Amino acid sequence: MAYVQKINSLLIQSIIQHILYLRCVKTWFIQNKVLISFEKNSIMKKNLLILSFTLLCHLQSIAQKDIMSQINAIVEKEYPSLDEIYKHLHANPELSNMEKNTSARVAKELREAGFQVTENVGGYGVVGVLKNGEGKTILVRADMDGLPIKEETGLAYASQTITKDDKGIDQPAMHACGHDIHVSVLIGTARLMSQLKSQWKGTIVFIGQPAEEKVQGAYAMLKDGLYTRFPRPDYIIGLHASASLPAGKIGYCPEYSMANVNSVNLTIYGEGGHGAYPHTTKDPIVLSAYIITQVQTIVSRQTPPLEPCVVTVGSIHGGSKHNIIPNEVKLQLTLRSYSEKVRQNTIESIRKICKGLAIAAGLPESKHPKVEIDNETGFALYNNPELTDKVVKSLKSAIGEQNVEKVPPVMAAEDFGELGKVNPPIPVCLYWLGTVAPAKYDESQSTGLQLPPLHSSLYAPLPEPSIKTGVKSMTKSVMDLLAEGYKPT
Ligand SMILES: [Zn+2]
Ligand SMILES: [Zn+2]
Repeated sequence: MAYVQKINSLLIQSIIQHILYLRCVKTWFIQNKVLISFEKNSIMKKNLLILSFTLLCHLQSIAQKDIMSQINAIVEKEYPSLDEIYKHLHANPELSNMEKNTSARVAKELREAGFQVTENVGGYGVVGVLKNGEGKTILVRADMDGLPIKEETGLAYASQTITKDDKGIDQPAMHACGHDIHVSVLIGTARLMSQLKSQWKGTIVFIGQPAEEKVQGAYAMLKDGLYTRFPRPDYIIGLHASASLPAGKIGYCPEYSMANVNSVNLTIYGEGGHGAYPHTTKDPIVLSAYIITQVQTIVSRQTPPLEPCVVTVGSIHGGSKHNIIPNEVKLQLTLRSYSEKVRQNTIESIRKICKGLAIAAGLPESKHPKVEIDNETGFALYNNPELTDKVVKSLKSAIGEQNVEKVPPVMAAEDFGELGKVNPPIPVCLYWLGTVAPAKYDESQSTGLQLPPLHSSLYAPLPEPSIKTGVKSMTKSVMDLLAEGYKPT
């Protein structure tokens, strides 16, 4: 019997039982002449109503436990295969817009789980649709790309991959943001939803999204007809690995939870020459050093202290030898904010600082730094509060109230929110999946030593409890959202 039907049927049965029960009680009181105006005895009526309500809740919780015991059993059965998939993905990461093999694996697994699968949606995007009668449509998203980082975890299944990036340059690659966990959870949830098909009605759309790390993939999939070629969802949910929560725990953050991001490319020009004759040159390395320190004052001296803002220079390249002053230096920056005003002010201030310092260095206008705003631009993630509330209830029922906690917003960024920024908007909710080995987490709590964060070459999630918690929580969330829209015929 379907999960929703079971709950409905238990509720109806219980209401009938309670009406009969109340009648019996009343009859007994009348027969035994104990009834001294039962109708007027509001305390007794109130108590009986409370008793009835408690029993209803109890029956609902039996139905919830029943579905969770099925979910738990299937997760145990599927885990060895999910573990193999995870370790394969971890050892074979692919960079943004290069997710050829990962997307093929996602497509194969979704097909085997009974989904109708379309590949190459917005690049290497994969869309799997499973229709199962009338009801709501729920979209679940996993991002698939790795990062150009050399893995240093020392794990047996650590990545040794060296691959070409989208500019054809050799790069090491690593799943340092846990997207391999996301894909494994997506595949696991797909298998569970398929095996539990008799327990739900509606449509599920599972997507493997490319190029999240470049904040491009969600938009590319939308542009390629995600909601016109495939069913438009009522709700969109996803999860992201957390490097600060222990495996087995989940964090959630209603409303704004992740930041605006802008990537900025700077080319700092100079007039090169001999390192021994600096007075005959305009040194772009010294100018870059001034720019790098000066842009930090945008955060400390130009942004209101209560407004979040981050300016990070993540890459600097210039020069070829000790004694040569080069002609140019290239910098790559990431900017984070929540308000549009702060975002715009930060970009404008970078332009002003670059221009002002170039003038001070004596460079002509034609050699002022070039400031380019990259297309790696994304908007803050807003978790719809009503949807988050529903999802949190499901998370708690899936893994226990004590394992779900509210966490503060962060300055990391995601293009997940883009999926809901359509007309009319679609509510989205992304939650944090704990992945840190509990012993390492406890050690860090007691010593104060920092755990390796996301994007660190040392980030090593603990697969089993992380993936199991991810699949259980995601399956329960999808089933509950579908149950909400179930219309019995
Ligand atoms: Zn990332
Ligand atoms: Zn990520």
